[in-house]
Amino acid sequence: MAAERRVAVIGGGIAGLAAAHALLTDPAASADGPVPHVTVYEAADRLGGKLLTTPFAGHPGIDEGPDAFLARLPWGTALARSVGLGDQLVSPAAGKAAVWWEGLHDIPQGLLLGMPTDVMALARSKLLTWPGKLRAATEPLRPRTSLDADSLGAFVRARFGKEVHLRLVDPLVGSIYAADTDHFSLAAVPQIADLAGKGRSILIAGRRMPKPAANAGPLFYAPRDGMGALVDATLQAVLTAGGDVRTNNAVTELVPAGDGWRVDGERYDGVVLACPAAAAARLLTVVQPQVASTLAAIPTADVAMVTLAIAAADWPAHMQSLSGYLVPKPMQRLVTAASFGSQKWSHWEASGAMVMRVSLGRDGLPVLHLSDEQLLTAAIDEVGHHLGLTLAPLHARVSRWAGAFPQYRPHHATTVAGAEQLLPAGLALAGASYHGIGVPACIRSAQQAAAAMRAHLHPVAD
Ligand SMILES: Cc1cc2nc3c(=O)[nH]c(=O)nc-3n(C[C@H](O)[C@H](O)[C@H](O)COP(=O)(O)OP(=O)(O)OC[C@H]3O[C@@H](n4cnc5c(N)ncnc54)[C@H](O)[C@@H]3O)c2cc1C
Repeated sequence: MAAERRVAVIGGGIAGLAAAHALLTDPAASADGPVPHVTVYEAADRLGGKLLTTPFAGHPGIDEGPDAFLARLPWGTALARSVGLGDQLVSPAAGKAAVWWEGLHDIPQGLLLGMPTDVMALARSKLLTWPGKLRAATEPLRPRTSLDADSLGAFVRARFGKEVHLRLVDPLVGSIYAADTDHFSLAAVPQIADLAGKGRSILIAGRRMPKPAANAGPLFYAPRDGMGALVDATLQAVLTAGGDVRTNNAVTELVPAGDGWRVDGERYDGVVLACPAAAAARLLTVVQPQVASTLAAIPTADVAMVTLAIAAADWPAHMQSLSGYLVPKPMQRLVTAASFGSQKWSHWEASGAMVMRVSLGRDGLPVLHLSDEQLLTAAIDEVGHHLGLTLAPLHARVSRWAGAFPQYRPHHATTVAGAEQLLPAGLALAGASYHGIGVPACIRSAQQAAAAMRAHLHPVAD
């Protein structure tokens, strides 16, 4: 009988758990060959990485990291369903989001991540000045913009001018990835890159785009017990399928061992590196120094998330239709966005209080040198100033996320493809550092790494 194949997964965030889950349970696996033995190594004392749901203000679970995943991309929803959370997925109440530019302005209709596809909706908005709107309206007359520089900010400015860039696209995309869009890859934002690739003019391409169907379904999903439920259910599925999961186990050594690998002294046939690029780089220094230095150069942005519970009686009625707001770069001190969680999520309703989450910091705006007290004061003062309120939170919490968001610099995809090509057989990369930062993209990268691992373990005979 053939010896059992063994795979190590380094990192127990959602990517590592999804990779282990795919290796152990994907129906395609049994067609490829016997299911391998899988060991997940996690440095921290808990699994989930950036996914963390903890009690707050008397509520059993308010997320400290992501609070939802995109429903449009299939991988998050599919994993949630396959680990038994299908009937527990909830979606946010429809609410308006705003941009703060010397006051709150509703985000105009007809935008695609801030890119206008409808000039009339833009014309009605007071967020842009008339010269800014006129500049945007001339977009169809402008010559083709080369995509070669792969800078999102430069592309948007060339097409629509600086107001659309600074007041719409930069805050919208910037708040998703904690990015400064001047230093962020256009290709890494597929919806905008697709539109940009369709022809000379974004407005003309946008007009031709099929309108979303009325029954298109929700934009986001979250398990009603928070994103931690996705971690718990995936972990349970991995354990049930025979996975070995080791917390408090930071891997420090990865070296070749015959036709396999040794991970901290134990032999494996394959290894999925599902830890952030900086950690993968440290482990690859001996194995493949060139890949190690490429991965080490992928920068990250730190963020802090301040969660506040505001007495419902102190929360003005005119704010109750708002899901939150974004702060454009020129208006930022430390706060980049605020999300009025209780108004988005029915499962966040805390009795008598409005729970909001305030994001501080981004690429180029460091915040983690500040104390929790300073971060809390900044959140309370800045949000109070934006909303014209004196905020006196009943409860407050500061979550610090070092290395929260990898920053995809221009040509990131080419850089990663080059590194992956040099990676020796039997090693695969997964997670937010490579092919997408959101939870569904991390799950997809994990499933692709698992498929590559299966192909390595069970090569098809010629
Ligand atoms: C505040 C915040 C809000 C976000 N909001 C959203 C959102 O709303 N929607 C969305 O889709 N995405 C969101 N994201 C992004 C998303 O959460 C992350 O990109 C994703 O969870 C990353 O998953 P991962 O498994 O790749 O990495 P991680 O979660 O970072 O997991 C990697 C794991 O590897 C471990 N590790 C590191 N080194 C070693 C080692 N040597 N040995 C063993 N283990 C090691 C780490 O301890 C960690 O647990 C948010 C992120 C943050 C920080």
